[in-house]
Amino acid sequence: MLIKTGILNPVSPEKAEFIRKCFLEIRGDVIVSVSDKASGKDFIDYSDYLCTPGFIDLHAHLSQFSARGNSNPQLLDWLNNYVFPEEIKSFNPPYAEKIAEEFFTELKKSGTTSVIAYVSASEKATDIAFRQAEKAGIRVWAGNVQMDCNAPEKLCASTEENLRISFALFEKWHQKTPLLNYIFTPRFAPVCSRELMKETGDYALKNKIKIQSHLSENHNENLWVKDLFPECKSYTEVYLKYGLLGENTIMAHCLHLQEREIKIMAETGTKIAHCPESNLFLKSGIFPLKEIEKAELSFGLGSDVAAGSSLFMPYHMRIMDYMQIKNYVPPEKTFYSATLGSAKVLNEHDSIGSIEVGKQADLAFWEIKDYALYNNARKIIQTMQYLPDKASLKELLVAGKKVL
Ligand SMILES: [Zn+2]
Repeated sequence: MLIKTGILNPVSPEKAEFIRKCFLEIRGDVIVSVSDKASGKDFIDYSDYLCTPGFIDLHAHLSQFSARGNSNPQLLDWLNNYVFPEEIKSFNPPYAEKIAEEFFTELKKSGTTSVIAYVSASEKATDIAFRQAEKAGIRVWAGNVQMDCNAPEKLCASTEENLRISFALFEKWHQKTPLLNYIFTPRFAPVCSRELMKETGDYALKNKIKIQSHLSENHNENLWVKDLFPECKSYTEVYLKYGLLGENTIMAHCLHLQEREIKIMAETGTKIAHCPESNLFLKSGIFPLKEIEKAELSFGLGSDVAAGSSLFMPYHMRIMDYMQIKNYVPPEKTFYSATLGSAKVLNEHDSIGSIEVGKQADLAFWEIKDYALYNNARKIIQTMQYLPDKASLKELLVAGKKVL
């Protein structure tokens, strides 16, 4: 397949490139050439469209998709009042089916080709989520949420049962197709026993599988962790002690880390999912962008639906800028954080996150109003993130296959 199109590509947090006209050749699932000359006579003419790499949503809660828009100024109350009751609904298979289908459809409409998702604490619901992801043709890392204490009984399987469910789902779904991946998902330390964290960490390490969880989002949460784990000097040290940190781990939020915690994150190579709208919505705090960058921690952007209201990543790029009230965040950096930066967090930057020869053809084609007038990358990124009404998605490819 040969396509004539404009491209917008992330290069680094400081740089993005715009090429008004080039020819993209896709063979199977891979981009085989990006050239200013056509390699054949027949091509699809998308000259008036802009092609970007498909967005990567580094943190979203699939089973909370219908719980968006329920405000509460405190994380723990919000979980108890809205999130846990909603996640319990996914124990009903038809409901889980409906939510998963809506979630993946909306992701695709938003130009997202990869998502890292938390499902519910239900084996059935997670199974259904993978089936729907396969049907949707989207690239996923998804996991059954693990909890074995301090949460509603329905959501807390015993430690043993919890591990059995996660390991069985991993065996069944991880790499069943090249697009499907399992990620171990202990929700956060307060609802996980020491044994659950330790066994999960050991198993993930042995099988080289990713882990996701939440860290230092809210002050009350931090106090609770301090109370529950008196043997550890900090929240980060809880995860360190019980074996969940490392290069394959993505921790969401990380808003209130002390210097020594940032050091542990850097030493272990632990990555971060930054979810700015969620931080604003739950009044959790401001992401310490300068400190995280100074420590060279790898981070990318997540929607954190349902504490985030939208799956449209340019919207979260905008909030990332707005939330840094003391720092200017260049558009190139927000764009990088929703594409190549997130691919790096996943250790998948050799295969996704930008438009390059040899990479997977995960591509979004956009119609941009007044596109002919734009002549540089910054102008286009600004339009997409601040004036989203001017951008509409025309086509989406995942691994070279049209999914929308
Ligand atoms: Zn979350």
